[in-house]
Amino acid sequence: MKIAVVANQEPKSQQVAKELQDKLRVANFEIDKVKPDVVITVGGDGTLLGAFHAYSHELDRIRFIGVHTGHLGFYTDWRDYELDLLVSSLCEDTSKSVSYPLLDVTLTYNDTRQDKQFLALNEATVKNLNRTMVSEVFIKEELFEKFRGDGLSVSTPTGSTAYSKSLGGAVIHPRVNAIQLNEVASINNRVYRSLGSPLIIAKDEWITLNLAEDESYQLHIDHLVMTEDNLDTVTVKLSEQRIHFASYRHTHFWRRVNDAFIGE
Ligand code: NAP
Ligand code: MN
Repeated sequence: MKIAVVANQEPKSQQVAKELQDKLRVANFEIDKVKPDVVITVGGDGTLLGAFHAYSHELDRIRFIGVHTGHLGFYTDWRDYELDLLVSSLCEDTSKSVSYPLLDVTLTYNDTRQDKQFLALNEATVKNLNRTMVSEVFIKEELFEKFRGDGLSVSTPTGSTAYSKSLGGAVIHPRVNAIQLNEVASINNRVYRSLGSPLIIAKDEWITLNLAEDESYQLHIDHLVMTEDNLDTVTVKLSEQRIHFASYRHTHFWRRVNDAFIGE
């Protein structure tokens, strides 16, 4: 089994990553950043997001493991003082994994540019850089509403505890194959009307944002940010691909939610 260890820049994470690689080598694992079977991240949920995008071309092969050096995360089960237990779990590996849904995001342009495609683990968010964002919202082929406001965000179930939650979205159990649309500060009055609450759609439906022309948009895919001119539409649906985590232990989802947001 080939293993890559990816850490954030925190001195604590760097040190834990070094210790972990030493222990893995002693246990005869090959450290391979290029074609790993297992990717272990050391840091926080943001570190796992970064590794997900770095290895998104190999999602069918790779299983992820998250070690956290701060608080318990949503993608990170292991504590930094459990490295020996983690290595012995890898030694007894039976290839068991759990998988979570991802988003397929497609951008089309008003000019001759090719469509662009992205995978997202948490969410895809569109905002207008300069003024009120105006967008038609389609569910499947049907026009649902005309949105005006700061932006729109579509999230996965595991992303429902991230930006989506700050936007007033529901927390969704990751076993539910659904995607959630959240508004960012919509303008609602007698003239402009959008739903005003989050909506959740099933896996056989998709959301298309038909954006006003001649504007500059900011697109956020998880932690990545890009500026897009001449953007025509953004379509988001549940992906056929999923992210796989090695499952040596199971942290109950609602236990995690409690730990992150409620505590004792
Ligand atoms: P960041 O600014 O460091 O992340 C913001 C916080 O979101 C961090 O505490 C991060 O945890 C946490 N987080 C990430 N994914 C999560 C998840 N699935 N469930 C619960 N919490 C999660 O940036 P980052 O670490 O690169 O993460 C990018 C993500 O941050 C974006 O995908 C977006 O969801 C989120 N974000 C949220 C807001 C907001 O709530 N207003 C604003 C911008 C971005 P760690 O500390 O463990 O990394
Ligand atoms: Mn972070």
